[in-house]
Amino acid sequence: MQLKHIAGNSYFLDGANCVGIYIFSDQTCLLVDSGFSESQAKKIVTLLTAEGLQIKTIFNTHAHVDHCGGNEYLQTHCQCDIIASQMAAAIIENPIFGPAMLFTAYPLKVLRSRALMAQPSKVNRIASPGPLLINNLEFQVYDLPGHSLGQTGLMTPDGVAFLGDSLMHEQMLMEYPFLYMVDITRQLETLDFIRRQNWPLVLLTHGGLVNDLGGCLEKNQARIIKITEEILALLDIGRSHEEILAAMLIKYDLNANSGQYYLVSSTIAAFLSHLSQQKMIRNRVEDGVMKFYRIKRE
Ligand SMILES: [Zn+2]
Repeated sequence: MQLKHIAGNSYFLDGANCVGIYIFSDQTCLLVDSGFSESQAKKIVTLLTAEGLQIKTIFNTHAHVDHCGGNEYLQTHCQCDIIASQMAAAIIENPIFGPAMLFTAYPLKVLRSRALMAQPSKVNRIASPGPLLINNLEFQVYDLPGHSLGQTGLMTPDGVAFLGDSLMHEQMLMEYPFLYMVDITRQLETLDFIRRQNWPLVLLTHGGLVNDLGGCLEKNQARIIKITEEILALLDIGRSHEEILAAMLIKYDLNANSGQYYLVSSTIAAFLSHLSQQKMIRNRVEDGVMKFYRIKRE
């Protein structure tokens, strides 16, 4: 992990889970997300301390473990404040909601692992879209829902946009064809929103700085449209959620463990909800099974 400069006082720590850094003139700093785990958080503290920096604030883009997994350690050891959206805060403070959302009830033990559930930490400030003063400097918060509920992005005074997982780096799209999303309708709106902003400096947690934002947005949108069409093609006959899930796991050759199974299952549910919202499918219970059908148009 290395501290890399982006522009002005905006930096990032590179690696599989990039962490955004903004350095204030008093040598305190803001982190955008806190890494995957306590061990990553320890490395962050060691590295920033060696630079003479003190962590004062964490801004969490969303409540997935690879974004808030270092919160508890950092808050305990650095007494830093945590800022997050209302919805992200609910999960950061009550991490059981994350796997419970995947399982739709108190989750299986395998879903309560460290890979899917962070230690709880305390959110000190709720972020809403618009200007946000941190250490007397004005940052901008953007609503970017879709990949998760209540995901936000943060722009530093240098014009660097830290966008979390609101879109996926092209490399990630190639490696992981089936990326987690909870709200497809909102995700498409978020991609449109980012396209309209045309920010010059965008950092994504997985993959780092984006070279070609327009191209990256197009590939993200194309992936959603492709999966939408693949699901629709299955629904000329009525199929259950689990049958659609099985078909997609086989089609994409996803050798899923229990955690991945429920992540993909949740994403399929998000697509079904989107298609229903678009009036492209309908559903009804048949012999005790919820079945989804494509609505035929002339
Ligand atoms: Zn995420």
